[in-house]
Amino acid sequence: MKSLACKDMGMKDCGFEVRTETADEAMMIAGDHAKRIHPDKMKEMMKTMTDPQLKQAMMAAVKNV
Ligand SMILES: [Zn+2]
Repeated sequence: MKSLACKDMGMKDCGFEVRTETADEAMMIAGDHAKRIHPDKMKEMMKTMTDPQLKQAMMAAVKNV
């Protein structure tokens, strides 16, 4: 399984973690969560990173569990 935790994406105070079969699914759910719960942080990240960079950063935070 794949795991993606908010704290690994820089949201240190958030305990959100998603576990799914595929990395794509984990990134989709975590991305959706981040947009809803951390809109300011997302805006900040999207200012400094392009879409592919953001996806790459999320991919790097995905762990095998
Ligand atoms: Zn979060």
